[in-house]
Amino acid sequence: MAALSNEQKERYKRQIAVVGEDGQEKIGKTRLLIAGAGGLGNTAALFAAMAGFGSIRIIDPDRIEETNLNRQLLYREADIGRPKADTAAKALHAMNSSIDVEPVTAAIGTTPVRDLIRGIDVVIDGLDNYPARFLLADAAWKCGIPFIHGAVEGFYGQVCTIIPKISPCLRCIVPNPPPVRETPIIGVTTGIIGCVQVTEAIKLATGSGIPTSDHLWLWDGSRQKSDRLKIERIPACHICGKDEYQIRAGERMS
Ligand SMILES: [Zn+2]
Repeated sequence: MAALSNEQKERYKRQIAVVGEDGQEKIGKTRLLIAGAGGLGNTAALFAAMAGFGSIRIIDPDRIEETNLNRQLLYREADIGRPKADTAAKALHAMNSSIDVEPVTAAIGTTPVRDLIRGIDVVIDGLDNYPARFLLADAAWKCGIPFIHGAVEGFYGQVCTIIPKISPCLRCIVPNPPPVRETPIIGVTTGIIGCVQVTEAIKLATGSGIPTSDHLWLWDGSRQKSDRLKIERIPACHICGKDEYQIRAGERMS
């Protein structure tokens, strides 16, 4: 494994004090897909870039609107009308020029999902609707790629790190998803949840700490309170249920 350069040792000095040089090298070799360049995706991408994740692919179909600016911290007023993925990539590169950032201006589903996750080590869910989440989470599960789920509404948020063959899948964790709609949100909630998602990614990359893979972590900013909800596999689940699990044993996309 290539050693860190002197510049990297200096840049990540305070983080290396936590995860070690070996951990920092592992972060540098971890390839992230950040799905969505909205509130969650912006926060997650910013902290992932600062942490030194060596490769970040970020996908979003939209252009920046004025209403995004209460929470999407990579964008400025002058960016209104520009594509989110490209603008986010430029901001991330300005933050950390030593990492690779690949913007993809497309919606989940219009780009083949398996192509999108090919070569990816960890997926961070910054999406705003469950049909797209299920599409991506199902593919990540089948390909053995961890999927760090995050969702927000108002003062509330939730995070779960779905590790294929270990955790229940997203369909078991959220069996009754809310309908697709414009979600009310304060910016700090996306900040908190996006940061927790990157904390999970750092743990996965380095082996430090314990991932949130056997429960759903819930955040209630209105009372400054967090909670843990036990999650379980639904036996008949067509993604992670027992029969499907046995059929898929050994099946892993390269
Ligand atoms: Zn399932």
